[in-house]
Amino acid sequence: MESSLQYSFFVLSGVTVLLTAVFATVNFKAGQIRAGIISVLTAVILSTAFFLLRNSTVFSYCVVTFSALAAVAVFVFRYPAEKRNTSSDGNTRFDERNISFARYRLQPGSDAYTSYYTENPHKEDVDTRTRALPGLLSKNSRYYHRLNSAAADASFYLLQHLKGAVDGPVTERAQAGDPRFLTEYLRRLMKLYGVKCYGITKVKPVHYYSHSGRGAGNYGAEIQAEHSYAVVLCSEMKPEFTSTAPLSPEVIETGLRYAESGVWAVQLAAFIRNMGYSSRAHIDGDYQVVAPLLALDAGLGGFGWSSIFLTRKYGPRVRFSVVTTNMELQVSEEKPSTDFLSFCRVCRKCAVNCPSRAINPDRLEKLNADRCFMYWNSVGTDCGKCLAVCPMGHPWGPLKTLALRYRLAGWVLKGLDDVFYGRKPPAKPLLKWMVKGK
Ligand code: SF4
Ligand code: SF4
Repeated sequence: MESSLQYSFFVLSGVTVLLTAVFATVNFKAGQIRAGIISVLTAVILSTAFFLLRNSTVFSYCVVTFSALAAVAVFVFRYPAEKRNTSSDGNTRFDERNISFARYRLQPGSDAYTSYYTENPHKEDVDTRTRALPGLLSKNSRYYHRLNSAAADASFYLLQHLKGAVDGPVTERAQAGDPRFLTEYLRRLMKLYGVKCYGITKVKPVHYYSHSGRGAGNYGAEIQAEHSYAVVLCSEMKPEFTSTAPLSPEVIETGLRYAESGVWAVQLAAFIRNMGYSSRAHIDGDYQVVAPLLALDAGLGGFGWSSIFLTRKYGPRVRFSVVTTNMELQVSEEKPSTDFLSFCRVCRKCAVNCPSRAINPDRLEKLNADRCFMYWNSVGTDCGKCLAVCPMGHPWGPLKTLALRYRLAGWVLKGLDDVFYGRKPPAKPLLKWMVKGK
């Protein structure tokens, strides 16, 4: 009995210290110095206590019993089942002309301007105030940085030019192929490109915007729901950059990841057309589909408190592009996730940290996109504070999965995240190599 107690104690203490050391390494690599230092201190304190008290039967007994009780308790308190709207259940298609970016581009005096605000007079005031602000990447904005803003703009320049390549002629006659084989081939190809995560789903009409507001097509043109399958590609935003939000490194990373996933999508769509099937890439600034809705149905994650899409692996630290096609593919087995909100109710860190108060900390409601967009146009970056602080974007591994299902694990994760990363963490400073170029 005593020897099995000692054995369990050694295994538990070894695993705990090892996990803490791995967590420290991951955080230092990601530039999360505070979390890294706390992890090292925790590893040192734990290993010292375990070493000094290794021969104490009472201590071993306490550690083993506490661990066993905690493990059981976690699985007892499951969140109550909640029926939530998964957003793609309805039939009403979003009109792209209503999104902030599309409205911002309307030129006063133009036909499009007059027609839009005749139908939507309540939006004119906020849009006029937004247009009067310095603007994204603008010299007069609060966080303008000569080099970083230019670097971010370079990615959007590339995206602008990619728009001409999102579609093209189908060069071959389609040969019916085994969907399983084609999907596996696509998967290998995406891995070769460097795609971090992806999902495949059938396309419903509601996934398409109803009218064009921003893309390369004519403003206001009706969008035809042309394709029946979609591949959603996600590019990970690195925490070294997102943790500086809302400063300028964040917007470099946003531009870069949009451009990266845009290149993947354009290439993948061209490959599919070379196979004889119609296909289109949907990239930043030229989407005909609502990427987060497709990501939801492709099983990549779900919507959080902030209304922003959370992937299972990287939380909100991602940028999406999409390829739609008529080539038959095998859809992803993962189901749309509706389980983030239970943890979000405990967490609410995005709301507490949002500098524009676009996210309500008290009530679950849609993000105030106009307020958020106004903030972007005054600071000159796309802010990103909500995605920098989200525990779902931190490297908590399987603890995240537990926290989404079980109440106790949720409280533990919230507590640990607040201690290791801070409840209201300040923006990390500019990276060393950027400081001189300010
Ligand atoms: S920060 Fe917290 S509340 Fe906000 S989306 Fe992430 S998990 Fe949910
Ligand atoms: S909602 Fe907008 S303003 Fe608020 S933290 Fe997120 S990006 Fe920043």
